Amino acid sequence: PHADPEAGAAVKAADRAHVFHSWSAQAAIDPLAVAGAEGSYFWDYDGHRYLDFSSQLVNTNIGHQHPKVVAAIQEQAGRLTTLAPGFAVDVRSEAARLIAELTPGDLNKIFFTNAGAEAVENAVRMARLHTGRPKVLSTYRSYHGATAAAINLTGDPRRWASDTATAGVVHFWGPFLYRSPFHATTEEEECERALKHLDDLIAFEGPQSIAAIILETVVGTAGILVPPPGYLAGVREICDRYGIVFILDEVMAGFGRTGAWFAADHWGVTPDLLTFAKGVNSGYVPLGGVAISEKIAETFATRPYPGGLTYSGHVLACASAVATINAMREEKVVENAAEIGEKVIGPELRDIAERHPCVGDVRGRGVFWAVELVKDKATREPLVPYNAAGADNAPMAEFAAACKRRGLWPFVNMNRTHVVPACTITESEAKEGLAILDEALTVTDAYCA
Ligand code: PLP
Repeated sequence: PHADPEAGAAVKAADRAHVFHSWSAQAAIDPLAVAGAEGSYFWDYDGHRYLDFSSQLVNTNIGHQHPKVVAAIQEQAGRLTTLAPGFAVDVRSEAARLIAELTPGDLNKIFFTNAGAEAVENAVRMARLHTGRPKVLSTYRSYHGATAAAINLTGDPRRWASDTATAGVVHFWGPFLYRSPFHATTEEEECERALKHLDDLIAFEGPQSIAAIILETVVGTAGILVPPPGYLAGVREICDRYGIVFILDEVMAGFGRTGAWFAADHWGVTPDLLTFAKGVNSGYVPLGGVAISEKIAETFATRPYPGGLTYSGHVLACASAVATINAMREEKVVENAAEIGEKVIGPELRDIAERHPCVGDVRGRGVFWAVELVKDKATREPLVPYNAAGADNAPMAEFAAACKRRGLWPFVNMNRTHVVPACTITESEAKEGLAILDEALTVTDAYCA
């Protein structure tokens, strides 16, 4: 990349003067000024290039600046940029048709939103209206978005400041064998006990008061938790037994991330509602949505659906989704994600786990992996406490800095780093990034028993 430190300084100064950043104490942050991006990389104004092992916020599944998607946006911008949601538009119809074709089972109607949180809000609204019941169940260790219902459903510390509006939200424990809430020692036990816990909780909450259960098919930000075989089918059976709507949140796991179009495909499970965003068009233009089953669509066939957004099914966003899905099919991007996970990332991370005292667990599939750092492999004590800040978080901050110095942009959350590159990543890029990760983990080894 071409260096222009002065331009970078001006970008940074204007940012610090006027941009209010998410999730941050404004005085404590130091955002990197980025000059450009392509494929698996982005670069700053000082001539440093970074291999993007975070896919930004786990959304650039097709990589940065994919030429076919960029061309489709340019072409669409020249033709027609925006139209209200009430009109029928070629690219909106085609995006909905393609998404309905890819999603499992009878999810044949698509309600478009601008992003993931709005998809969750609308899925919950549909479930409450469809059932006439008030409550929604979600797991601890989850993230569903930052708007009112979505943040209350979330099971991480970002919820705490917004807990004033939790009416109707009940949290439960999902399966996570490495830190089993059920004292299980095998996946079979974890699955059986997690389903029993959920069933018991429903009995005590009152099944007739529960509109929906929402789960991330594979939990993302809260730790890449892959459900044990049988768990999702078990939740599906519980929902059917009590007339509860089953919502799968595939905002992060969907569109190739796990090496399948949707993570639900790995277990052959069909929810009643499926939320998506991120990978649907890699975030080139904001887009999300809810894929709706025939049964729930039927509820709103004669009764008006009381929800909408000015930019629902935005024309530019839909054009970019059509181009993204077609390019992913033509270039076998989902197949690539599966193969890189199986042949490169999985085996290399398992090797890394053996070599490094600080690595307690590695788990994932496709291009969706977590490396969990611990003080001691035997006790599994996390390398930093849950929700650590400041000095308590120093080991993870040092790890991230060590990656960046070597040209790798990592995803870090609590005591974990996630390996979540683009689904288009090549074998040599994946190896380059994993070699840097391996070196940077010697920094965190120093904190271990
Ligand atoms: N659901 C899941 C599983 C997510 O990972 C996210 C974002 O990370 C969201 C919902 C919220 O999406 P957005 O930030 O686009 O509103």
